[in-house]
Amino acid sequence: MSIHDSLDAHAHVAPSSAAQPRLSVVIPLYNESGSLGLLHQRLSAVLEAMPLAAYEVVFVDDGSRDGTYAEVAALCAIDPALKAIRFARNFGKEAAMAAGLRAASGDVVVLMDGDLQHPPELLPEMLARWREGAMMVTAVRRSRDTDPWLRRQLSRAFYLFFRKVSEVALAEGGGDFRIFDRAVVDAINSLPERTRFMKGITSWVGFRQEEVEFEPEERAAGASAWSMLRLLRYAIDGLSAFSTLPLRVWSVIGLAMAGLSGVYGAWLVVRTIIFGIDLPGYASIMVSVLFLSGIQLISLGVLGEYIGRIFTEVKGRPLFLVSERIGFDGPRESSR
Ligand code: UDP
Ligand code: MG
Repeated sequence: MSIHDSLDAHAHVAPSSAAQPRLSVVIPLYNESGSLGLLHQRLSAVLEAMPLAAYEVVFVDDGSRDGTYAEVAALCAIDPALKAIRFARNFGKEAAMAAGLRAASGDVVVLMDGDLQHPPELLPEMLARWREGAMMVTAVRRSRDTDPWLRRQLSRAFYLFFRKVSEVALAEGGGDFRIFDRAVVDAINSLPERTRFMKGITSWVGFRQEEVEFEPEERAAGASAWSMLRLLRYAIDGLSAFSTLPLRVWSVIGLAMAGLSGVYGAWLVVRTIIFGIDLPGYASIMVSVLFLSGIQLISLGVLGEYIGRIFTEVKGRPLFLVSERIGFDGPRESSR
């Protein structure tokens, strides 16, 4: 009983009530062939047991290099509730989530990872919260024990820093395991930006948000696709998308530097008048020249980060390119 079936077969049915919503599950996949079978099994078992009018599962294959798409296609052939989108190459998890959210048609949409670190068994509890009126329910990790130590510390530092400098507060430990009301999905879909940072976006849109706790499982198979460097890039993307403090802070630093230089300059003038000219001073000149050029280069770098992002936004390229799709017969949704 996919959403598609129910739409085609009973086009006249009344809009579903809160008791029997139509549910979409969006799952980004990148080289997840090892866990697909088990994922489909566990997810279907949970979904079949839930009181839903209909459900669909939208797999977004983010340019996997292994047999992921072939396996997804095979699953789609046996299970009409499954749909698939295949990207032309790897566009990143954020793009995959954006594509899935645009393709999902349910009254309630779930976003979850495809490596079974997000247990499908949590869905009934999350849906229950939605029934009680929550517009967005985030599954928050109780511990990050499955992550390496350094990564845990860096992630904590990032959340702390982010809270200090940005306009939105991120839930620490809140990954991308969420359930959204249709209104929230429409709000997220209406954001045109290309540098996507889902953690920030979900917090920015507002609505009534609640959390449930869960214990993340180990990956069912394969390895995490997130290297340290990729995480760092992701962190910088997130910060620049939700804070302009790195840009503004330079005026304060510049002002402080100018003030100090003014005082020092005045002292030099007075000293020269009183004690006459003395030449030594190589060290202080070198230090101030080097220090100031360092500061200037840093601020130029920060400017560069933002200008680079303006450039990507202005180019207006699509967020992703789709090469194949299964189960979507209607008009294509835009990738802008
Ligand atoms: N993923 C994706 N595109 C990517 C990297 C990851 O769609 O470029 C998917 C991946 O298949 C998984 C989810 O995003 O479903 C989370 O990825 P991963 O498990 O590697 O991240 P972690 O759990 O380590 O944060
Ligand atoms: Mg994972």
